[in-house]
Parts: sequence; structure tokens; C-alpha cells
Amino acid sequence: MDLTALERLPLWIGGRTVPSRTTRYGEVTNPATGEVLRHVPFATRDDVDAAVNAATQAWSEWRAAPALRRARILMRFRELMEAHRKDLARLVSQEHGKTVADAEGSITRGVEVVEFATGIPHLLKGEFSDSVGSEVDSFSLRQPLGVCAGITPFNFPAMVPMWMFPLALACGNAFILKPSERDPTMSLRMAELLKEAGLPDGIFNVVHGDKEAVDAILSHPGIKAVSFVGSTPIAKYIYETGTAHGKRVQALGGAKNHAVVLPDADLGFAAEALIGAAYGSAGERCMAISVVVAVGEAADPLRDKLAERARRVVVGAGDNPGAEMGPVITCAARERIVGLIDRGVEEGATLVVDGRRARVAGYESGFFVGPTLFDNTTPAMAIYQQEIFGPVLVMVRSDSLDEAIELINANPYANGAALFTRSGFAARRFQQNVEVGMVGINVPIPVPMAFYSFGGWRNSLFGDLHVHGMDGVRFYTRGKAVTARWPNDGSAAPGFHLPTLG
Ligand code: NAD
Repeated sequence: MDLTALERLPLWIGGRTVPSRTTRYGEVTNPATGEVLRHVPFATRDDVDAAVNAATQAWSEWRAAPALRRARILMRFRELMEAHRKDLARLVSQEHGKTVADAEGSITRGVEVVEFATGIPHLLKGEFSDSVGSEVDSFSLRQPLGVCAGITPFNFPAMVPMWMFPLALACGNAFILKPSERDPTMSLRMAELLKEAGLPDGIFNVVHGDKEAVDAILSHPGIKAVSFVGSTPIAKYIYETGTAHGKRVQALGGAKNHAVVLPDADLGFAAEALIGAAYGSAGERCMAISVVVAVGEAADPLRDKLAERARRVVVGAGDNPGAEMGPVITCAARERIVGLIDRGVEEGATLVVDGRRARVAGYESGFFVGPTLFDNTTPAMAIYQQEIFGPVLVMVRSDSLDEAIELINANPYANGAALFTRSGFAARRFQQNVEVGMVGINVPIPVPMAFYSFGGWRNSLFGDLHVHGMDGVRFYTRGKAVTARWPNDGSAAPGFHLPTLG
């Protein structure tokens, strides 16, 4: 079905499109033009119930399918995602605003989780110990949970859902995705491709919506686990509400990622890397670098290099092949970001590059903010404390590596942090002592590969397990240990006391 031709998007339940029962709809806009592309339904509690029923019915057969059969469906899904990568990237770019090349990269990073999940027969192998007692053997199993749900943010409409559902499905669960209402169409395309790959109807469902649908998911007794990625206040709410309803929850929140640049670093390399990390995808990445901590004499030359390069960033519509950076997601996001830049000026930071008046010829109604750079920022300022989630990089000056590490460790967010240096000693000190979930050494955006797990510390993650990698397998399964004996005639039965080897 050509979803992009629809004025109102459907839900995806039981292996097909179905209309929502709602009367409430939201607008999906093209952030480069401001044009309303289509409308997204805000699903009701009844819609969520229908999805849970479809998933529950389909689950008993799916959980019993050999893991290799489930893996082969994901192999075909991977091939389909590859075959459609260019079209899918254009769809992501149209609704999100990021460049098509960046969107393609994000799809590839998501598909890497699918590739990891195709190894599920191996990943689910348990342990076995023979003769833990006389004629007694013990082994462990990991079993699926049932119906799981994912609630995802606008900034990666393909990749973040793929952090979740490939492993959930591979482990033998059914899945309900509640994607962001800002760029919802990609989730329906993935549902179509999963069906084409051979996924049984009901195992993957898409319920669009806002708080009403999310609350229905959090309190639904048929849903066993919830994965969430989004902003910190909502992550905390999801974790507290979901766990209060007895669910397993992992809730990834916002970020304020620091990059520390030491005076011995290759400053040209660091500046170029930081420009991409700060302004790529208009700064709307949870792993974007939003604070640069310049140590000692690195500060002045680094600021000049960053400013020179920031002024040359090509801002344009995501489907313009020359564009390096697109618009931000909504008009409201633009106003919030510009307001925070105003606040930075009021609070006394030095505005080195000002993106507030960015205009793109032919796209006068687009939600553009240009690259913005502040120097002399302090931890007391709003531009340091708040997650701006836009193309704004703030520079803080520091006297030493240890002072920079202390600054990072005092920040409530703790997703990622990077260090630029030529010193192995400094790099080791940083990676040992910095208290965040993901660390880059001369790598500005240290997003772990699919076979490692992704997640932050403190207010960047509520829950115990990160996403994908082995944490993902653990999250979507429950452990079981079996102790077995096969008594022969005359074997002694256990007595009253707790059996020991004695
Ligand atoms: P958001 O928190 O506004 O929305 C995320 C999801 O929660 C959406 O599906 C949305 O519909 C739902 N939601 C929003 N308000 C809600 C409410 N009051 N009650 C229940 N559900 C609600 O986040 P966003 O603006 O879509 O995405 C940007 C945020 O996501 C940033 O803070 C960014 O750092 C974060 N993010 C974090 C990671 C990570 O890995 N830690 C990755 C990507 C994005």
C-alpha cells in the first residue's frame, strides 16, 4: 500500500492495516517546508486492547517455533530493508528533516541489530551441568516474556524501534510498537516488510498515539515488558508507572554529552569531528555532543576552528544532496531552541556563531536553526543545564582533565562522553573514571555496535538493562533453571531435609 498517499494513517493490528477508533488526530509535517503531509490517529484504550488481543493469540505458536525459524524470517526482513533502504531513507527524511544520507546511515545501524538478532539460536543457548548431585543434572533456559511493547522518540523513527523489536521477536515474544506521532509512517512500512518476510500475523503491531495510548500500554495486564526511548521526564514516568503495574521496564532518557579536548589533541581533527557530532541531524541525536570542555590552552584555537567550520555548514532540506544539516522537527522545537539561545546571551555566555536567523532559499516556512556556538559557558547557565536537542554547541573552559571529569560526573545526564587526546595515559584515566554509559576516545559519537549494548547511567536510563547486545537478549527473556533426575528401580528418594551433597 502507498502509505504516503493516505490522508489519515491506519494502525497495524493482526497483520493488516485497521482504522483507529479515535476521533483525535495529529498533524505530520515536513519540517523543511512546514507542509502538513498526513494525519496520525491518537489511538484509544480499545485500540491498544485490540493489539494486545491479536498479539496474545498469535504468541503461543510463535514462542514454540524453533529459534532458527524465527531467525530466518529476520534474515528475509534484513534483505527487504536493504532492498528498500533508499526509499525508506527518503521517507525518514521527509517526516524528520534529517538528510537522506544521514537517514540511510541510521537505517543501516538499525539493520545491524537485525543481523545480531539472526544469531538467536546461538544467543539463547543455556548452561548445562551434569551430576550436580548423584544422578542429578542441571540446566538453564531462557524463555520469552509474552507481549512486549516499545515506545519510541521522533529522532530515529527506524533505528530506535530496531533497537527493540528484532531481539524481542527473535527471543519469541510478540511486539506492539507505539512510535513517535511526529514521524509515524516508517513503523507501518517496517510492519509491511515484516509481513512480507513471513512474520505471522499478530506478532508485530503498530499503535499510533500520544499519552492515552502510552497509558493504556503501561497499565495493560496483557503486556509484560516495556522498552522506552525518549526524554528524561517521560522516561522516569514510564519506568515508575510501568513497574508499578508489575512490568519489566527499560526507559532510556535524554542526554547532555560532553567532549573533552586536551591541549595535546590534534585540534583540526577534533574540531572536524565535533562539528559533525554537534550539528549532524540538527543536533537531534541522543548521542550528539552538546558540550565541549576545552582544557587549558586548547580553548582559543579550538573555538576559532569550530567557529570557522560551523559558519560553513550547509543548511538545507534533507533531500538536497548538498545539505549537511536539515531543519529541526517542529516549529515549537525551533522556538524553544531559539529561546534557549536568547537565554544563553542574557546569562552572559559569549555567542560566537548565531544560528537564530537561518533562512534557506525556497524553504521560507521550514523549521531551520543554523549551527550555533557559545564560548565561556558555565554550569550555572540554562544552556549548560538543559538538553537543548538542537544545533547548539556550548564550550566550557577547564583547567585540567580531572576537573573536566568531575564536571561530567556531576551532570544529571550520563549517556555518552568523549575525549580527544594523543595521550594513552590520559585516555585510560578518562575511560576508567568518567561515570557515563558510553565512552569515546577520539570518537565523538561512541554508539556501540549491535553486539554490544547501548545505554546511559543516572537520568539517561531508568532500569537495569541496556538495549540490544546481550542485555537485549536478557531483557526480552526470563531465566529458568531445571534440576532433573531420572530414578531407576531402587534409587533413594529425597528425604525431609534440604538436599545437599553432604
Ligand atoms: P519524548 O519523550 O517527547 O517522546 C518519546 C515518546 O513518548 C513518544 O512516543 C511520545 O509519544 C511519548 N510521550 C510524549 N509525551 C508523553 C507523555 N506525557 N506521556 C506518555 N508518553 C508520552 O521524546 P522525543 O521528543 O520524541 O525525543 C527526543 C528525546 O529522546 C530527547 O530527550 C533525546 O535525548 C531522547 N532520546 C534518547 C535516546 C537514548 O538512547 N537515551 C535515544 C534517542 C532519543
